[in-house]
Amino acid sequence: MRQITDRSPTPSELTTLKQKFSSQQVGDWEQMHQNHQVEYLAIREQLAYDQSYFCIYCELCLDPSAVADGNKGHIEHHKPKSKYPRLMFDWDNLMYCCTSPDTCGGAKGNAYFNGLINPYTDPVESWLEVNKINGKLALSNGCPENRRDDVYKSLEKILNLNSPGLRSKRQRILRSISKAVEVLSGQPDALAVFRQKAKAEEMPFITARLQLLDKLIPEG
Ligand SMILES: [Zn+2]
Repeated sequence: MRQITDRSPTPSELTTLKQKFSSQQVGDWEQMHQNHQVEYLAIREQLAYDQSYFCIYCELCLDPSAVADGNKGHIEHHKPKSKYPRLMFDWDNLMYCCTSPDTCGGAKGNAYFNGLINPYTDPVESWLEVNKINGKLALSNGCPENRRDDVYKSLEKILNLNSPGLRSKRQRILRSISKAVEVLSGQPDALAVFRQKAKAEEMPFITARLQLLDKLIPEG
């Protein structure tokens, strides 16, 4: 997970919908989803673009134009609609998220708490580190003392980002990077090229991959 700092301004479609559904009741979102597909898709595309087409929490690659529904991703409310109906059409509360039922938004459901990590405002990439051997995400030394309980709870209890499925996918990708670096050891030019290519690749877990690359092939 990483902080998303470079966001587009609120899309006009969202502003229009916010005015249309000014009573802001929980059911409004489902109604909007059914009756305003064009606007919904435009908003989802903008979120996806801002997040480089990764799920905001687990960083699996998503594709809004995918044929299979499971890969399209959905608009996630960071603060759930049921508890914060007034933030239902609030741009800062909307994120692009995978549809996995047991991780990320699917695991979170309505289980919001005040310290839940927020990738729009928290420098999450410096709070979490990945274990290249088992693919597990854990708190890093960079996570401040007063946020450690919140971050741990977010990671393990609310978003379930160390689910067996995510861990083993992470493990596989990180292992293949470690192996390639091992093979290229002693060849600085080849390593620099590999590093550049690996950074640009459209593969899941961008933050974990960059962390590992920085560790294995320090720049300069
Ligand atoms: Zn996800």
